[in-house]
Amino acid sequence: MNNPGVVASDAKVRRNGKGGKNRSNVFPLDVGILHPDHPVMVWSKHPSCKGFVQKFRGTSFRYIQKSHAFLTCRKLLSLHVMADMHCKVCGNVEQQRFQQVYAFPTFEVWSCTVCNFHFVPPAFTELVSYDHYKTKAEQETVRQGNDWLKIQRHKSRLRKINRLQHGGKLFDLGVGWGHFLAAARDMGYNVSGVELSEYQWEYATRDLGLPVEHMNFFDLPASPGSTDVITMWDVLEHIEDAGAVLDRIHDMLCDNGLLVLQVPQIDSYISKKTRDKWSMLSHTHVNYFSPSTITRLLQDHGFEVLKIRSSIELKLLLMYVIYPRKRKKQGTADSISSDDRQHYFNKVTNRPKWILRIAVFLHDVIYDLLSLLNIGEEMVVYARKKA
Ligand SMILES: [Zn+2]
Repeated sequence: MNNPGVVASDAKVRRNGKGGKNRSNVFPLDVGILHPDHPVMVWSKHPSCKGFVQKFRGTSFRYIQKSHAFLTCRKLLSLHVMADMHCKVCGNVEQQRFQQVYAFPTFEVWSCTVCNFHFVPPAFTELVSYDHYKTKAEQETVRQGNDWLKIQRHKSRLRKINRLQHGGKLFDLGVGWGHFLAAARDMGYNVSGVELSEYQWEYATRDLGLPVEHMNFFDLPASPGSTDVITMWDVLEHIEDAGAVLDRIHDMLCDNGLLVLQVPQIDSYISKKTRDKWSMLSHTHVNYFSPSTITRLLQDHGFEVLKIRSSIELKLLLMYVIYPRKRKKQGTADSISSDDRQHYFNKVTNRPKWILRIAVFLHDVIYDLLSLLNIGEEMVVYARKKA
């Protein structure tokens, strides 16, 4: 059997489309399955099917064969999921050498049993768009926060980079609100960057005055060998074709240029401790690297890994772990928006500057200590372009 296509429609579909006596007996259709020779359908309200609805909107079919109506959406998904499964680290394509690790209502995490790379199969990620990744309300809340504090927090990162590459041209891929790049500018780097999210780009350029482009990284005009340092903070886990991004970075870097990236670490202390409750498991995070899989991928794309350090974003811990616990006690944990999290961060950090200076000092000490003890949920990878 060929792989079936999946069709969807918002319309009410007639149970017996050929004009039988059940013609008026209609029911809502969410997802259908279409075989080239033999159109059949199933229906489901399952949230995992949203991706299919988008992909096949507008496709129609003529009639329904009742015997196939009991196929569940989950079965449909697994057909679709398995169809183009491949490991982007070791290249494995044998279906029996993949296994499901976690299943959530809207996505699944799978692993390649050859190299142990974990990932979310493309079938679950079709609807993710980064153009509207952040909202206008969130931008306004970020604006009410303390830029000075947010910039300080990145300086310890830059001191570590500075030991490997002092000054020069630094390009940040996925600038976010721009506080890291502003810290790099303060420390004497010649900075630039790119950001897809409109509101974040607007903030980085207008509020922080940074030279940031608002376009796809691949469309960016950049001369080969022109950059000394490229940084990517929590970006590579979002990118389906991670290898293509690394190739482009390799091209932009000068000889022996430095790449510094941070990604969630699937075999980190916190990931192993919290398993399926790990707050970094998300359908927007399509890649889950370990030190061995990121090393392999980087080596295959022309980089030499210098070192890998455990990392934890204490700011995210505050917004994604401590704040939800607080809301849970109030019984309102179900409705937390990104904007609420930013508000909470602003509230906690609305203190006199001398207190914030102590807080930054303590932040850096705690961060370095946890990193040293390997107690983290992410990792920072330092790699050089091979000559
Ligand atoms: Zn693999």
